[in-house]
Amino acid sequence: MFEDESVMECRLRGNYRIKGLRTTSPVAVGDRVEVLVDTTEGTGVIEYIEERENYIIRKSVNLSKEAHVIAANLDQALLIATVHQPRTSYGFIDRFLCTARAYNIPAAVVINKIDLNQDEEPSQLEEEYSSCYEKIGYPVFKTSAINNDGIDQLKDWMHNKVTLVSGHSGVGKSTLLNAIQPELEIRTSEISEVHNKGTHTTTYAEMHRLDFGGFIIDTPGIKEFGLIDMEAGELSHYFPEIFNASENCKFNNCLHVNEPSCAVMNQVKENAIPETRYRSYLSILESIR
Ligand code: GDP
Ligand code: ZN
Repeated sequence: MFEDESVMECRLRGNYRIKGLRTTSPVAVGDRVEVLVDTTEGTGVIEYIEERENYIIRKSVNLSKEAHVIAANLDQALLIATVHQPRTSYGFIDRFLCTARAYNIPAAVVINKIDLNQDEEPSQLEEEYSSCYEKIGYPVFKTSAINNDGIDQLKDWMHNKVTLVSGHSGVGKSTLLNAIQPELEIRTSEISEVHNKGTHTTTYAEMHRLDFGGFIIDTPGIKEFGLIDMEAGELSHYFPEIFNASENCKFNNCLHVNEPSCAVMNQVKENAIPETRYRSYLSILESIR
């Protein structure tokens, strides 16, 4: 899309390479590019891709070690979760938030379907989920996509930003995006149809303009994003409350697993750090070691 908002089909200059990153495709949704326009054909050639502020990669599915960049230059990321029908696990939310932080992308959580949480037990769960993340400093939006509750606050947050939207299927992502902007959904399905004719149906991102200002990047078919390569000792940097507590650990290379005088484990014992967060930390630690 050009500055005047016009759109043009472009291809990439044949031998284009980005230094230092082995990727399946050099250009991704959200990239800022310079295009040489062929006025007679009405098409363009991407001559230059600007350095990315950030980008997310797909979880590697093979051993080729090639990264697949899904989207670039994101301002923020939103995870849509539900505590009911279906219940999103703490582990999944924590992994998302940790990944976003590792990519240097501010993140927020939506708890959708709050209309279902009128009974005592689900509403208590809703409270547990939201206070867990609010305490750490993540924005939490409680919405009902079918009743239009909480949609305005979400739109305010998205205003003039490029927002990646993600969530397990069934949490109401389509319904929510439709509540944010009615025609958005229609366009989503049109684009999907075009893509479905090809063989690569599962992993791509779509960027949609918001009429009130900003963009949404949807990643249909992508369940989880790949975590950047990191050392075990780096992981706590992406769990803000664990990172804060770790200042007071006895050993400055403490991984908070079984070391003596670990301030993180003490805070978990005192419920200052939720057990769920600590368990997610341990599980990710296990996976990167
Ligand atoms: P997606 O797979 O995340 O895109 O989910 P859909 O938008 O297709 O929604 C899945 C189901 O949840 C549908 O039956 C929706 O009607 C329902 N749903 C979506 N949002 C809400 C909500 O806020 N409240 C309730 N009760 N149901 C919802
Ligand atoms: Zn520790």
